Amino acid sequence: MKVLKFGGTSVGTVEALRNVKYIVEHQEEPVVVVVSALGGLTDTLIKAANLAANNDIAAYRIVQDITSRHNEIMNTLIEGEQIDDALNRVRALLFELSNAYTDISQSEELTESDIEEIVSYGERLSSLIISQIIDNATHFNSLEIIHSNNHECDMEATCANIANTLGKFKGKVAVMGGFISRDSKSRRISNLGRGGSDYTAAIVASALNASSLEIWTDVDGFMTADPKKDPSATVIRQMTYAQAQEMCDKGAKVIYAPTIKPMAEKNIPIWVKNTFNRTALGTLITD
Ligand code: ASP
Ligand code: MG
Repeated sequence: MKVLKFGGTSVGTVEALRNVKYIVEHQEEPVVVVVSALGGLTDTLIKAANLAANNDIAAYRIVQDITSRHNEIMNTLIEGEQIDDALNRVRALLFELSNAYTDISQSEELTESDIEEIVSYGERLSSLIISQIIDNATHFNSLEIIHSNNHECDMEATCANIANTLGKFKGKVAVMGGFISRDSKSRRISNLGRGGSDYTAAIVASALNASSLEIWTDVDGFMTADPKKDPSATVIRQMTYAQAQEMCDKGAKVIYAPTIKPMAEKNIPIWVKNTFNRTALGTLITD
C-alpha cells in the first residue's frame, strides 16, 4: 500500500484533475490518496471570512465563485448516476459553508475557531469530489480520523483511528482530505499548519507502514537552485532524508518540512513527482 498526496495546483482545474485520475487509476497496489483544497482556495476562504466579518458584500461574490468552481469541476468530470448523489453531498457542504459566512457577518467578529472551520471546507469539498472522479474510490472523512492538540497531531488517537478505518479498508483507492483535523479535547475543527496536507499524508503513511509516500506537485522535484533565478538549475534525482530536511528548513517549498521526520523514522521512501509531467523521474528521498 502506498500513499499519494496531490497538492492544490494538482487538483485545481479540470485538466489537472484528469491527470490525477489517470495517475491514481494506473496504480498497481492499493493507495490512500490525500488531497489539498483546490489551488488557492484556502487563501480565498480566509479572505472571504475577513470580508464577511466586515459585512462586505464582496464576501458573497467570492462564495458564489467558490460554488461555481466546484460545480464546474463536478459537472465536467463526474458521470452518470454518481452525479446526483455526489452533487447533493457537495451542495450540502457548499450550503453549510455559505451559512457559516452568514453567521460570521451577523456576529461581526471573526474568531480563530471560525477561521479553522471555514478553511476546513476546502479539503472537505475537494476530497469528496475527487473520490467521485476516480473510479472505485471510497471517501474517508479526515475530521473523524486526524485528531490534534493545539495543531499538533495527537498521534495516539490518530493512529488508533487510522487502524480502525483505513487499516481495515479492503478496497483499492481511499481518498481523504489533507490538513484538516479535529481537536481531541474540544472536538472542534482545528487544522494542521498551512501546507499541512503533506504532513497528513506522512502520518497516514507512517501509521499504515506504506511502501512509499509520493508527493505529487507542479514541479519535477527538488532542484539544485531556484529555476526562476538560475536557468541552469536541474532536478536532484536522489537525496537523503537529512539533505531534504535541510533544504526544507532553509525554505524549499517542495515539501512541508515536518513531513520528512516520520518517513525517516520508518525508512519509508518519499518521491516528489510532477502531476503535469508524470513520466519525469522526480526526486527520491531515502536514507
Ligand atoms: N490547503 C491548505 C493550505 O493551503 C493545506 C495544503 O494545501 O497543504 O495551506
Ligand atoms: Mg504544499
